[in-house]
Amino acid sequence: MQVADNMAVSIHYTLTNDAGEELDSSVGDEPLVYLHGMGNIIPGLEKALTGKSAGDKFNVHIEPADAYGEHEDDMVQVLPRAMFEGIDTVEVGMQFHADVSSGPGIVTVVDVDGDDITIDGNHPLAGEALNFDVEVVAVRPATQDELAHGHVHGAGCHH
Ligand code: ZN
Repeated sequence: MQVADNMAVSIHYTLTNDAGEELDSSVGDEPLVYLHGMGNIIPGLEKALTGKSAGDKFNVHIEPADAYGEHEDDMVQVLPRAMFEGIDTVEVGMQFHADVSSGPGIVTVVDVDGDDITIDGNHPLAGEALNFDVEVVAVRPATQDELAHGHVHGAGCHH
């Protein structure tokens, strides 16, 4: 059975950046299970998986445009400290839910200079090329329920 739209796909993966640093891995843990063709995973990885079968192993290099997007400078903003009312200490690396230009998202504090707080609404991996080592563990047709919900059910499901 091959990976195609509307299939539930289980993969093990190790994600590294171009400097060779490991950013994330499912190895030694449960495989990642996702619904193919629904944008559940980044476009470059979804594309690379299309047509693969259980047991296939491959490595793929994904440019930022097909991963978490380019780093958008206009998503970096300087805000007055007064906007962070109720937070005792605002520190670099803190993350907040916020409405940013592209909609609700997570912003990260990237600089604190007196009362000027610089936040970045880009995904932390925006602008990074990514390398995935992938092993396809299982491929099965998704159920009607899964297709209606746009995600896979099973272990770790929210239902
Ligand atoms: Zn559901």
